[in-house]
Amino acid sequence: MTNSQSFKRRTLLGSVGLGLIAAPMIMTRAAFAQADTSMDINHAMPPETHRFKVGGFEVVVIKDGARPSGKPNETFGINQTPEAVAELLTANFLPTDNFVNGFSPVLVNTGKDVILFDTGFGKPGRKDGNGRLIEGMAAAGYTPEDVTIVVLTHMHGDHIGGVMEDGKPAFPNARYVAGQKEYDFWTDTARAGTPAEGGHKLALANVKPLLDKITFLPDGGDVVTGISGMNAFGHSPGHMIYRLQSENRQLVLTADTANHFVLSLQKPEWEVKFDMDKSAAAASRKKVFDMVSTDRVAFLGYHMPFPSVGYAEKSGDGYRFVPKAYQFDL
Ligand SMILES: [Zn+2]
Repeated sequence: MTNSQSFKRRTLLGSVGLGLIAAPMIMTRAAFAQADTSMDINHAMPPETHRFKVGGFEVVVIKDGARPSGKPNETFGINQTPEAVAELLTANFLPTDNFVNGFSPVLVNTGKDVILFDTGFGKPGRKDGNGRLIEGMAAAGYTPEDVTIVVLTHMHGDHIGGVMEDGKPAFPNARYVAGQKEYDFWTDTARAGTPAEGGHKLALANVKPLLDKITFLPDGGDVVTGISGMNAFGHSPGHMIYRLQSENRQLVLTADTANHFVLSLQKPEWEVKFDMDKSAAAASRKKVFDMVSTDRVAFLGYHMPFPSVGYAEKSGDGYRFVPKAYQFDL
């Protein structure tokens, strides 16, 4: 036995207490290494944020979360063969057995107002590693109290889940902007006992209590100077999108008009499971992306790959997603 071996042996056998402490330490390190290699999609780092300027507006995109969401053909192209969906994915360097859906609320600081577009999952999403909006805002230098207006593009759970935190408004100084048709649909008691019942209950809990602070925006109405709403119905009954304009720069927040950067943009007519009125949603997709591709303006889609900003180029039956580069840095 060498001196060194002897030392190790003495240390290990020196006391029962040390042995008990040493074992969990080794297990903890092993567990840490395991977590590290699994690369959890919402791993414990600050949420991703991305800041850029649109004229005089500061835009901050915040990643509320992301999650693997199963077989792509069970959500997108549900009126197509699985082979057709797989072929398009493969041609675009994407796997055919799973896809990642991301969630990107947006903060727009106009200099007068701090406007939040959609609120992510909020507390109910945190058990799955989502609901990180407020944490991401903090990383970007904003507090919930800074928000003066919350705009709800529509009232699905990944957009209104974060309106309330423990039953209280998460953004205590904010007023709200939403579409009347969307509000009326989700708060209507006729939704009880239908597939929309879960959404109905969430709207009753998170949106209805704020009714006296909500401004219902008509098609073309202004949230503030330079930010206007536009009807884009179909994904949900009153789904709206928003155009930002400042100093001759533009960005269209397309919300959930298209929900996959390949499957929904290249094939806008393919049916999507989450589009409540499938033909109206397809018509809105073509209308909105014809507009942004013809006008060559940038768009930000809530479920596009983070930071969720890009351009749509007309291509074949649809559009090709071209991610933003340095266009807004010059
Ligand atoms: Zn959504």
